[in-house]
Amino acid sequence: MEKILTAAGACAFGCVAAERLRPRMGERAWERAAQTTPGLKRLICAAFPYGPETVTPGLLSVYARGADYHRVLEARMAPVAAKLAERYPGCRFDFYADVSPFPEVYAAALAGLGKLGRNGLLLVPGAGSYVFLGFLATDAELPETGGTVVPCGGCGACERACPGVALGETVDQSRCLSALTQQRGQLTEEQTALIKRGGMLWGCDRCQLACPENRNRTVPPLPEFTPLPDPTEEQLRLSDRAFRRQFAGRAFTWRGVQPLRRNLEILKEDAPCKEY
Ligand code: SF4
Ligand code: SF4
Repeated sequence: MEKILTAAGACAFGCVAAERLRPRMGERAWERAAQTTPGLKRLICAAFPYGPETVTPGLLSVYARGADYHRVLEARMAPVAAKLAERYPGCRFDFYADVSPFPEVYAAALAGLGKLGRNGLLLVPGAGSYVFLGFLATDAELPETGGTVVPCGGCGACERACPGVALGETVDQSRCLSALTQQRGQLTEEQTALIKRGGMLWGCDRCQLACPENRNRTVPPLPEFTPLPDPTEEQLRLSDRAFRRQFAGRAFTWRGVQPLRRNLEILKEDAPCKEY
C-alpha cells in the first residue's frame, strides 16, 4: 500500500479500524457509511500536500487558489482504489474527500498521519496543516496503523490569531470564517462583522499562518495546487451560471457567486464594525 499511495502523491497515509470511529459518528453517519461499504472494516487515510513554502496572504484562502481538491484527490485516489481492488479481489474501496460520514481529521490522526492541532486541523510532519485528506473505506481487513491521537503542543498561537474568536476547547464552527465566508444568503450583524474582521473573500488562513508547525515545511505541494488567478471584481458581477462556468474546477464555486459577491460588498463597506 505504501508504494501505491506514495506514487499517488500522498505525503502521509495510514489505516484505522472503522469501529474505532463509530463512537464519534452518530447512528445516521454510521448507517450511511455501512450502506455505502457493506461489511465496512477499515478507513484508509491519505494526506496530499498543498500550499507553497511561503504563503502570502490573499483574498482567497490558500486551499482555494489552485484546482478543486475534491477533483484532484478523486483522480489521484482512483488508481489507488483500482490497484488495491486487484490485490484484494472481491473487496470494495469507496472514495471520500471532505463530504464523508467519518470524523476525517480525527481518523487521520488516529491512523498516525500526524498530530491533532488545537485549530482542528491535522499537522503532518514536513507538510504541517497544508494537506487535503482523502479516504478509502473498505471491507478488507487491512493492518491498522497509529493507534492513539497525539495532540499538538498547544502553544495557543492559532487561538490568539483567530479573527473569529472561534478557538477554545473546541472549534466553534458558527464563528469560524472558513465556514462563514461560504454561507449563503443574509448574514446577521455579528456574522457580517466577523467577515469584515477576517478581511477575506473566501476562507481564512490565520490559524495556519500562525502555527509554528507550518514553518520550515519540506514537502512540496502537488502541481495541481499551483495558484491560479483570483476572480476579479468584474467577474464577481457575472451571473451565477457564467461565474460557475468561468471558474469550473475551482473549490470556491460550489456555493455559486452570491457568497463571494456579498463578502466583497462587506469588505468594501467603510463603516467600522462592532466588536463581537
Ligand atoms: S498554533 Fe500551536 S496550538 Fe495551534 S495548532 Fe499550531 S501548534 Fe497547536
Ligand atoms: S480558519 Fe480563521 S476563523 Fe477559523 S479557526 Fe482558523 S483562524 Fe479562526
